[in-house]
Amino acid sequence: PQSRRPLMAGNWKMNLNHLEAIGLVQKLAFSLNEQQLTDVETVVIPPFTDLRSVQTLVDGDKLLIGYGAQDLSPHKGGAYTGDISGPLLAKLGCSYVVVGHSERRQYHHEDDQVVNSKVQAALANELTPIFCIGEGLEVREAGEQVAHCVAQLDAGLDGLKAEQVRKVVIAYEPVWAIGTGKTATPEDAQEVCGALRTRLAERFDSETADVTRILYGGSVKANNVAAIMAQPDVDGALVGGASIDAEEFVQIVRFPE
Ligand code: PEP
Repeated sequence: PQSRRPLMAGNWKMNLNHLEAIGLVQKLAFSLNEQQLTDVETVVIPPFTDLRSVQTLVDGDKLLIGYGAQDLSPHKGGAYTGDISGPLLAKLGCSYVVVGHSERRQYHHEDDQVVNSKVQAALANELTPIFCIGEGLEVREAGEQVAHCVAQLDAGLDGLKAEQVRKVVIAYEPVWAIGTGKTATPEDAQEVCGALRTRLAERFDSETADVTRILYGGSVKANNVAAIMAQPDVDGALVGGASIDAEEFVQIVRFPE
C-alpha cells in the first residue's frame, strides 16, 4: 500500500575514506532531484568515522538524504571500549541504525538475544533500527527459510509493543545472496517478506502489519531492483556493494522511473 514509503538504504560497510564519503553524498545530492528524494526515502549508512562528515553535508545543504550507522551497543554508555552507543549516534543526527546484520551475527557472534537488546537500544534513542534477518544456504536448501526467518523475527522483536514495532524497519537478507551476486528471485523475496508481514499481523495486529516496512537485501543492483520492488510485500532495499557506486545507487533510487 501507498502508506509504506519506499526506502533505499545503502550500507557502505567498511568502505570509503573521508573524502570518498563526502564525494559520494555530493554526487547523490547532485543527481537526485527533490521529487525523487521525496518519493523514495534515501538513506546512506557509512562507517562510524564518516558520520560527522555526512551530517555536516546533510545539515549544511538541507539534503533530503537520511543517514545512519551500521551497528550500536546495547548499552547506554560506560566501560565498553570500541563500542558506540545509541545516545552518541542520536547526537550525530542519525535517523537509522542497522541491527543484526549477518556480518555482525557471523563475525561478532551476535545472537538473537543481543540483536533484540540492540533493537531496544535503538528505539530508546529514537533511532529507527533496520533489523536484519535471513537464512543461510543450508536452511534454504532444506526449504526451511520461512520458519527460520519467522523465528528470527519473533526473537528480535521480543518484548516490543505494537507501536514500537511500527517504528522498526525489517530487512530480509538471505545470507547466501549477500555480496555473492546471487540475488533471490523476486518470488523468493516475496515468499519470506509476505510471511514476515503475516507474522506481524498474528503477533501484533493488522495495522502493524500494514504500516511496517520490510526491505529485501542481497545483491540488489540497478538491473534487478524494479522486479524486486514490484512484489507486494517488499517496501525497499538494503543495498551493499551497489551503494558505494554513485551512478548505480542513483539508478536504484530511481527505480520507479
Ligand atoms: C548488505 O550488506 O546488506 C547487502 C545486501 O550487501 P550486497 O548488496 O552487497 O549483497
